Amino acid sequence: MITRINSVPPPVEEAGSDCLLWRHRENDYKAWFSSKNTWNQIRRQGDTVEWSKLIWFSHTVPRDSFIAWLAIRNRLSTGDHTQIWGEHQSCRLCGEPNESRDHLFFVCPYSYTIWTELTSSLLPRPNPDWGITVTMLLSPRRSNTDSCLLRLSFQAVIHSVWRERNSRKHTGVYRTAQQLTRFIDKTIRNRSSLRYKSAEKCSALMIRWMGRNE
Ligand SMILES: [Zn+2]
Repeated sequence: MITRINSVPPPVEEAGSDCLLWRHRENDYKAWFSSKNTWNQIRRQGDTVEWSKLIWFSHTVPRDSFIAWLAIRNRLSTGDHTQIWGEHQSCRLCGEPNESRDHLFFVCPYSYTIWTELTSSLLPRPNPDWGITVTMLLSPRRSNTDSCLLRLSFQAVIHSVWRERNSRKHTGVYRTAQQLTRFIDKTIRNRSSLRYKSAEKCSALMIRWMGRNE
């Protein structure tokens, strides 16, 4: 410890006064605080997962991403999970006795109707299977515009269907698949026009979304 203390040069007048610095990376100190760099230093970083681009991308909506992230990790409290705690939960949307993530997205006729109604022209060969859907959405063989709209739709449908399922369970308020489809369509239109900073990008996405069924 004495060696360590002696290795630090004593303060000298010419060096100026002390100041507070934030560590941004190893041997990189700055006068300003960065929550991102601080978080990156204190968290344990895992390998990048295959599906990360489906959940986290620059145009996404945080609340939709969060629910989609729970879904892709199969952490939503669906019936197959809650039955461990003694609570039986069938599908509130169609009556299927075994409610699971894979049933809700998109084996369930209710959610599959919404998903296919919204994306029929963007995803010509939809499949109700969760794993196949995720693989298809990660395919690089489509334009950036279609890819972005599909990922926005995927997250919006998951979030809206999950909210509808909770609404039916806790308040008894029901919306039909057609009503929910119209609601999601409207929120995507509003969301795109509000969120995109680049006017060029916004118009390309909006033109494609608005004209997708023509
Ligand atoms: Zn169902």
